[in-house]
Amino acid sequence: MNIQYVQGKPLFTYINKNKKQYPYLTENIEIDICIIGGGVTGAVASYYLSKNNIKSVVLEKKRIAHLSTSVTTSLLQYELDDNLSDLKEYTTLENALKSYDLGLKALDEIEEFINTYGNKCDYKKRDTLLYTAKNDEINGIKIEYDLRKENGLDVEYIDESTNKYSFDIKAGIISKNGGSELDPYKYTNQLLDVSCDMGAKIYENTEVIDLVHHDNYVEVITEFGYKVKAKKVIVATGYNTNLFTNRNFATKTTTFNIVTKPVANFDGWEDQILIRDNSDPYNYLRTTVDNRLIIGGEDVDFIPDIFNENLANEKYEILENRLKSMFKDIKGIEVDFKYCGTFASTPDNLGFVGPDKKHSNLWYLLGYGANGILFAVLGAIMLTDLYNGKENKDMKLFKVDRFDN
Ligand SMILES: Cc1cc2nc3c(=O)[nH]c(=O)nc-3n(C[C@H](O)[C@H](O)[C@H](O)COP(=O)(O)OP(=O)(O)OC[C@H]3O[C@@H](n4cnc5c(N)ncnc54)[C@H](O)[C@@H]3O)c2cc1C
Repeated sequence: MNIQYVQGKPLFTYINKNKKQYPYLTENIEIDICIIGGGVTGAVASYYLSKNNIKSVVLEKKRIAHLSTSVTTSLLQYELDDNLSDLKEYTTLENALKSYDLGLKALDEIEEFINTYGNKCDYKKRDTLLYTAKNDEINGIKIEYDLRKENGLDVEYIDESTNKYSFDIKAGIISKNGGSELDPYKYTNQLLDVSCDMGAKIYENTEVIDLVHHDNYVEVITEFGYKVKAKKVIVATGYNTNLFTNRNFATKTTTFNIVTKPVANFDGWEDQILIRDNSDPYNYLRTTVDNRLIIGGEDVDFIPDIFNENLANEKYEILENRLKSMFKDIKGIEVDFKYCGTFASTPDNLGFVGPDKKHSNLWYLLGYGANGILFAVLGAIMLTDLYNGKENKDMKLFKVDRFDN
């Protein structure tokens, strides 16, 4: 089946013209950890392993950062897709709050990386806004605000009387320093550059076609017959895990994005705060360093081998109209990029990190949910600890089999 995870003209791979190229694998190698997948998740794993003197190789079947990583909006926020009180059916409030804490920790980790190696990926720390324009959702936002406030998060409540944005807000929560944004293509490549300097190996155009499991190692077989003998394998293949397991990890949807041409001002979008509304599915918005506006949302069920162009165009038009109606004071909004991609949600909004149930040397690092990139950071730290025999208590939140009966 020809599964299309990304469609359209993604902003980040398009604007980054000078693409670094990596070789393909032309020899058999022996290594501590083989990471399969060269998106942002594989790159983050490579960085944390290298930083901890664990020898790793990344095998990417096509080009580095050209699948989901090329379309991610890269809004990095500690909050989850659902509000705390809506998560209680699937997790405890304590766990959900722990996830917020972990999100903040992941944001700090990214900032520390930038402070150490320089800002080569248009990183910017941002406040975040969660809001509703509907009267019947005011109470839900108030509950979320109270829970965050009571639990020590730096939040401010806004309503119609204190709204400083150009769009309708009935209730909203501003989280101070609650997020950041970056260019995911540049970030992935910067992580890999740093990892390479510390000894990691990276191969593109090197598809993994099979794994042979042994007691103390795994043989990773690539398309042209070369093998990697690794003590552990990390699956960082994003939304496609069929080669490794029959497990259906998450509910997949397709989410749509449009990006404008650079605009002359941001009137009505104070501090270019990261924005998410409280709708289901929700809309998410950010700006870029070259003064573009991005809006995403309008999610539909993911159908693996079918791309419905008419539906996509309808969705892009809805997003364009929504953007224009929210920001009437920003003149000359003109769409430049349109694309969509697969997105995976889980009941408790968290990704999956940890060993396979059957093969203990096969480890997953799957950043599912809206915080995929932050989960990749957290998971990479957890798997580094696991390799070093260090207990990481937070990993149980992300356990691969947590929804098994
Ligand atoms: C439109 C959209 C907006 C999003 N917005 C956000 C957001 O704002 N914030 C956020 O945190 N997340 C967001 N996400 C989610 C985010 O995109 C993902 O969490 C992230 O990109 C996943 O990266 P990845 O490296 O795991 O996957 P990918 O980038 O898909 O990388 C997986 C790689 O594995 C390779 N691969 C697969 N099979 C093999 C094989 N057999 N051998 C070798 N290589 C293989 C693929 O070629 C691919 O390059 C968004 C997603 C979409 C679609």
